[in-house]
Amino acid sequence: MTKNAEVAKVLKEISLYLEFEGKEPFKIRAYQRAVRSISSLGEDVASIAERGELTTIAGIGKGIAEVITDYLNDGQVTGLEELRTRVPIKIMELDAIPGVGPKTIKLVYDKLGVIDLESLEAAANEGRLAGLPGLGAKTEAQIKEGIRVARSGLGRTLLANALSVAEDIKKSLNQISGITQIIIAGSVRRRRETIGDIDILVSASDPKAVMDSFVSHRDVSSVTAHGQTKSSVRLTSGIQVDLRILPEDSFGAGLQYFTGNIDHNVHLRSIAQKKGLLLNEYGLFKGEKKVAGGAEADIYSTLGLKLIPPELREDTGEIEAAQSGNLPSLIELKDIRGDLHSHTDQSDGKNTIEEMLDAAQAKGYDYYCVSDHTQSLTISNGMDEARLLKRIEEIDDLNASGRWKMTILKGAEVDILSAGELDIKDEVLAELDFVTVSIHSRMKDDKKTMTDRVCHALESKYVHLLGHPTGRLLLKRPEFEIDIDAVFESARKNKVVMELNAHPQRLDLNAGNLRKATKNGLKIAINTDAHYTTELDNMQFGVFQARRGWLTKNDVINTYPLKKLMSTITK
Ligand SMILES: [Zn+2]
Ligand SMILES: [Zn+2]
Repeated sequence: MTKNAEVAKVLKEISLYLEFEGKEPFKIRAYQRAVRSISSLGEDVASIAERGELTTIAGIGKGIAEVITDYLNDGQVTGLEELRTRVPIKIMELDAIPGVGPKTIKLVYDKLGVIDLESLEAAANEGRLAGLPGLGAKTEAQIKEGIRVARSGLGRTLLANALSVAEDIKKSLNQISGITQIIIAGSVRRRRETIGDIDILVSASDPKAVMDSFVSHRDVSSVTAHGQTKSSVRLTSGIQVDLRILPEDSFGAGLQYFTGNIDHNVHLRSIAQKKGLLLNEYGLFKGEKKVAGGAEADIYSTLGLKLIPPELREDTGEIEAAQSGNLPSLIELKDIRGDLHSHTDQSDGKNTIEEMLDAAQAKGYDYYCVSDHTQSLTISNGMDEARLLKRIEEIDDLNASGRWKMTILKGAEVDILSAGELDIKDEVLAELDFVTVSIHSRMKDDKKTMTDRVCHALESKYVHLLGHPTGRLLLKRPEFEIDIDAVFESARKNKVVMELNAHPQRLDLNAGNLRKATKNGLKIAINTDAHYTTELDNMQFGVFQARRGWLTKNDVINTYPLKKLMSTITK
């Protein structure tokens, strides 16, 4: 596993302390920039440090490079340790609460002695926040809600993080001889958006060697169990990993047991029971005799079911569909022919348009849409009409140059303003191939205002896609208040496509909304919203989520050949 997440976390903590202490804004911004840049590196920051090239990373100057080196060498940063001693608060835990930032943290620390989530919750429940300068009853209620959101995310991690950790452990275990099977099971295999812990199943001739290697993996911070058939560890990142060794002839049964959620497994066991069989983690039994167990597919087929894709195993209709032969033929990553939402350094992206196009071409795409932000997003250097018109000419030239085999589509991610107006004039929108509209401001609007705003924006005949429709950031920011059914209805009427944003922290729409949208006849676009070339890799997370939402290739417009795509979006 790379050190990137850990280093980004340390830099983030420093930036929070700087803000807490009211230090110079440029210094705080430098750390914030460094956090973003390290989080999206395509390479391990430790390898870059080894080559002495930290300052070649965008946003990393000499000072921050020294901090990173300090941390990589000793596992701590002297200055940060001093700050933690002087102000002993759980600043990262508090900052993770939606609606709480360093300024609030400073206020509640100074006035109420709040040092962590628990003491903040106590203060909020006792109504002590509302009396503080600048904090009314409304803010107190928002903080309470934020605490609830933060609590539900405690101990969870994004699928993308869990998957990379799990793959790394799998790779190192695979070097042990005598391993016949190794599969990452549990909610990672179901591709849930966030993960509580990681389950790895192994079949091996030398279980002891596997367990010894597992508990001594370099990322392990503590070992909670170390046995012959099961071991558990906690990693430095806080994630718990369980490893189980299964006999070869029970591997399929174990895999089934440790993949489906409780509801799916209970339902399956009841089907077994009706057939006079017993299903458990060791196999499917008729009396004493094991009738299936080595292969997962045999468990399902003996129960009269088609093999159910892991992503669906949550008892939301997949068992009935498998019984009647109506399981959907789920979309796969290889079906994707292009990406319809991406940024460049013309707005808040970090790479040039040429670099993004090279990276998209390397994915083998047939088309790629460049969609930078528009003018009201000043913080992201959004484009006004004049710049957009220039961009359109530039893309015509790039297409004509023949340097890229794919078609470059002219797009924009247009801001939806306070009453649902768009911040670019119609005559310029008309020049674009693909127009995305998104909410980036006033995210705390009440439900009716937000719904009216979005529905009004979708009425424009130039709009093709609603970007990240719920605005959530997993483990960080809840969805905004919106009547999603009304939005779907408006989209259907106005022939607007819904985005499944593939960023691992967004992934809106969620699985339930995806099923509802396609049931209502809506089409979906799975887009990375990439701000860096490396973020084009996030497409896989969008496809995982699409599969959880039962989507087939036909539901997703960016699996279509270009001609079909364009005719589908034409109004
Ligand atoms: Zn956006
Ligand atoms: Zn975007």
